[in-house]
Amino acid sequence: MTRLLILGGSDAGTSAALRAREVESSAEVTVALADRLPNYSICGLPFYLSGETPDWHWLAHRTAEDITREGIHLLLDTTAQAIDPANHLVTVADREGQVRALEYDRLVIATGAVPVRPHLPGLDLPGVFLLRSMEDSFAVHACLETRAPRSAVIVGGGYIGMEMADAFIHRGLAVTVVEHGGTVLKTVDESLGRLVSAELGRHGVEVATGVAVERIAQAGTQLHVMGSEGFSATADLVLVAVSVQPQTEVAQAADIATGERQAIRVTRAMETNVPDIFATGDCVETWHRLLQAPTYLPLGTTAHKQGRIAGENAVGGHREFAGTLGTQVVKVFDTAVARTGLRDAEAAMAGFDPLTVESRSWDHKVYYPGAHELHIRVTGDRKTGRLLGAQMVGHYQAEVAKRIDIFATALFHGMRVDDLSDLDLSYTPPVSSPWDPVQISAQAWVAHRQRSLSP
Ligand SMILES: Cc1cc2nc3c(=O)[nH]c(=O)nc-3n(C[C@H](O)[C@H](O)[C@H](O)COP(=O)(O)OP(=O)(O)OC[C@H]3O[C@@H](n4cnc5c(N)ncnc54)[C@H](O)[C@@H]3O)c2cc1C
Repeated sequence: MTRLLILGGSDAGTSAALRAREVESSAEVTVALADRLPNYSICGLPFYLSGETPDWHWLAHRTAEDITREGIHLLLDTTAQAIDPANHLVTVADREGQVRALEYDRLVIATGAVPVRPHLPGLDLPGVFLLRSMEDSFAVHACLETRAPRSAVIVGGGYIGMEMADAFIHRGLAVTVVEHGGTVLKTVDESLGRLVSAELGRHGVEVATGVAVERIAQAGTQLHVMGSEGFSATADLVLVAVSVQPQTEVAQAADIATGERQAIRVTRAMETNVPDIFATGDCVETWHRLLQAPTYLPLGTTAHKQGRIAGENAVGGHREFAGTLGTQVVKVFDTAVARTGLRDAEAAMAGFDPLTVESRSWDHKVYYPGAHELHIRVTGDRKTGRLLGAQMVGHYQAEVAKRIDIFATALFHGMRVDDLSDLDLSYTPPVSSPWDPVQISAQAWVAHRQRSLSP
C-alpha cells in the first residue's frame, strides 16, 4: 500500500489523486491544499464575475464530498512549508498556525502558479485586484456588489484580460484595456490581434496598446492609472493580469531542480530530480511535442493530463506525458480566438523554415443563414511541408475550437499541411462546406508554398 501525499488540490493535484486511487485502490491518498476549495474551475472565474454563472458553487468540477467519496483524504487550509526528502516528510501548517509533519512514500507537488505582481506603485491600493484563486474572485465580486463600480481599467491584454473585459462590460462597467505590446492577445499574430481589438471596440472597450503602466494612485474615491505615452485613466476598479509564475519556493528549498521560469524540472513521467517526488501542473515545465524541449505553458488542459500521469506513476505506473502543442481558445464577446503549435518566429527559432499563410473562408455555406467568416493562419515548414501550427479567429459559434482541434490532432501526428485535404471531415451546409475551412486554409498554404518554391 502506497502512502501518497499530494500538495495542491486544484486541477493537477485532484487529477493525480483520482488516478492514483483508480490504479491502486488500496493507496492511501492525502491531498493537502493551501485553500479551502478543492477542485474548483478557476477557468470559470470570469463567468462567475460577469454574472453569467451566478453562483460560485457551480464552478466545482467536484465537491469535497465527491472527492472524499473516492477514498481521498483532504486536508483543507493546509500549507506545505518544507519538504524533507531524506526522511520522506512534509511540514505543513493549518489555518490556526498549527504545524505538523506528514509522512509519505511518494509525494506529488501540484502547487500551481500565482499571478505575476509587476513592480507598480499602487498595486496594493484598495480596488486593485489580481485574479487567480477563488478567494481572489470573491474579493472582486465583493467590490462589484458592494461598491457598484462604474468603470474598470484592466492592465494586461492577455486571455484573462480579454475575458474580464467581456465580464465587466456584461456587468455594465466602462472598460479600458491597457497592453504594452502592439496588439492585444499576443499569443496570436498581429493581424488576428487587431481583429480582437476591433471586437473589443465594437463592444465599447477602450484599448490602449503600446502603453506600459507605470503607477496607480488614489484619486479621491477613484484610482488613477498612469503609463507611458502620456496614458492616464481614472477608474473605480483596476484589475492587473499580466502573467503567471510557477509557485515553487517550497520545492526549491528542498533542492528540487527548476528550469524555465523557475518551474520544476520533470521528466515526461513527471518525476523530479529527487527520488519519490513527482510534480505536475502549472508549477512544472511542460514538454513541447514539436520543439522536443521543455517550455512553460500553464494551461488547465495540460494540468489535468499531467496530474493523471503523476498520479498513475506515483503508485508504480509507467506512463509518459506526450507533450503539449499549446492548443488554446478564448472567447472574447462574440469572437473565438484559438491557436495550436508554433507561430512563424517560434518555428524559425526552433530551426524550421516556416511559411505562414492567412486565408479567409465562410464557416458554412453562405446560402444557409448565419454564415461567419473565419480568419485562419497556417504555419508549415517550407522545406518539408510539415504542419507546424495554426491560428484562427471567428464567430464563437463558428466551430473555431473544433477546427483548431483538427489542426492540433494533425500536429500531434506529425502530418503535412497537404495531408489535411485528405481528411474525411463531416459536412452539411448549415455547419461546413464540402471542403472544410481547415482544408481550404491548408490548400491556400500549399498553393502559396508551390509559388514560393517555383523558380
Ligand atoms: C481566470 C482564469 C481563466 C483560465 N482559463 C483557462 C482556460 O480557459 N483554459 C485552460 O486550459 N486554462 C485556463 N486557465 C489556467 C488553468 O486554470 C490552470 O492552468 C490550472 O488551474 C492549473 O492547475 P494546477 O492544479 O496546476 O494549479 P492551481 O490551479 O494554481 O492550483 C494550485 C493548488 O495548489 C495549492 N497550493 C499552493 N501552494 C501550496 C502549498 N504550499 N501547500 C499546499 N497547497 C498549496 C493551492 O491551494 C491550489 O489548490 C485559467 C486560469 C485563470 C486564473
